[in-house]
Amino acid sequence: MSLSEFDLIRAYFADIGASRPDVLLGVGDDCALLRVPPGRDLAVSIDTLVCGSHFLPGDDPKTLGHKSLAVNLSDLAAMGAEPAWATLSLTLPEVDAEWLAAFSQGFSTLARRTGIALVGGDTTRGPLSISIQVQGFVEPGKAMRRSGARPGDLIYVSGHLGDAALALLAKRGVPVAPENLPGIMDRLHCPEPRLDLSARIRGIATACIDISDGLGADLGHICESSGVAALILAASLPLSPAVRDRIAATGDWGIALAGGDDYELCLTLPPERRAELESAIAGLAIGLTPIGTVEAGAGVRCMMPDGSVSPVTGRGYDHFR
Ligand code: ADP
Ligand code: MG
Repeated sequence: MSLSEFDLIRAYFADIGASRPDVLLGVGDDCALLRVPPGRDLAVSIDTLVCGSHFLPGDDPKTLGHKSLAVNLSDLAAMGAEPAWATLSLTLPEVDAEWLAAFSQGFSTLARRTGIALVGGDTTRGPLSISIQVQGFVEPGKAMRRSGARPGDLIYVSGHLGDAALALLAKRGVPVAPENLPGIMDRLHCPEPRLDLSARIRGIATACIDISDGLGADLGHICESSGVAALILAASLPLSPAVRDRIAATGDWGIALAGGDDYELCLTLPPERRAELESAIAGLAIGLTPIGTVEAGAGVRCMMPDGSVSPVTGRGYDHFR
């Protein structure tokens, strides 16, 4: 290593992200000192990205800096929390100045844009792995838990589904129309945490989750926590032209129902609050689509366009297992 551990931290991880008055002491001491605003609860979440499982050794480091923070911010969005602080635990096989500069830039750009300060971390040598903890604020009682869905609630999903899963297939050689490739690759490598949407829906949605493991699996978590069932309509799922083409060609709804890495929000809402929701999200670039309803019972089912109804498991639409 030409740079010492401390030079490295100073060069790439001191003063990155937003600067915030509630950071009394940031990177450089044994602990950061942070001030939670009076009357707010602290929401905390951590996610680790391991080289070989969550990304590949050759992946672009700037994009990786973005994504590793984005997936964490997505958890704050799902909870209805406003981002504040992050810590970063980085395990590196070697010091690669170019890699570090690009990673730090990707991280910092998103952090600044979303108002999050990097306040500390840990740097060790070993197989490449990136662990980020984020902290945010939420008004007491306003957090969107997984446990609040009730029979009769409508189920909504943001943006569209399946692009990241299709991008993974494309990387493995599945043909995708060239004009659709950049868009779906961007969705896989550069997910956008739905923080603006989250800020508009907290206090309205009864339950919310971010879709990291696929709609079936993640809506399944809402159902389990809430003690309810869900029926979704395949024909209502919001799909990009690329995903629509793929489903038309293969008849496989798995990429939309079970594809991971989309980082869209899935939420539930009592039908009588529908107008309130619509006016709350008016003007946002990312819309919400109603995709089904919460019912009494357990598990997630999907009505296919031919009218047949099948269970959706975490591993995808049953028929295709
Ligand atoms: P200690 O030995 O007291 O645990 P470290 O030597 O691990 O402290 O870290 C020194 C300072 O640098 C601490 O403030 C720590 O939070 C910060 N730091 C270390 N690694 C990172 C990193 N990857 N990103 C941000 N801050 C870091
Ligand atoms: Mg110490």
